[in-house]
Amino acid sequence: MCKIICKSMCDKIDIIHGSKNIKPRFIYNCSFLKRFELDGIVLYPYILIQTSEKDTKPSIIKHEMTHVYQIERDGVVCFYYKTLKHIFKTLINGGSIIEAMTTSDYEIEAYKKEKYRLSYRDVCLSKWNGAVTNKMYNKLNKLNKLNKLNNNS
Ligand SMILES: [Zn+2]
Repeated sequence: MCKIICKSMCDKIDIIHGSKNIKPRFIYNCSFLKRFELDGIVLYPYILIQTSEKDTKPSIIKHEMTHVYQIERDGVVCFYYKTLKHIFKTLINGGSIIEAMTTSDYEIEAYKKEKYRLSYRDVCLSKWNGAVTNKMYNKLNKLNKLNKLNNNS
């Protein structure tokens, strides 16, 4: 029942935003991203996340969904053109790869949005099942740990 209601709400949001063709696909457990010190990366329409779905914080989903909206707003070609241009420019000027990948205008915007709760649209498009804020995520984790301790004793 809940799934049906959710599905129809998501369809309504798609109609309101005209976003029928925006379908990001989240792929978790991409542990190779650790090597690049990245929590996630958008290879549109795929969004690779370093951690498992259970261990992913809502702020990471918010960050990556911000990139999805940037692509929706500016177009996929513009998004990658500006991102790659920034990376090359930073590297040519002697910056590190981490600096190059985290200081573009798109990244700055995404880092700013991380502190906000996940919207209904974020949840629908990312098919997210977890908490909508990091605070809620931490509370749920604490409760789960307490439950495990109680069950073991
Ligand atoms: Zn980013």
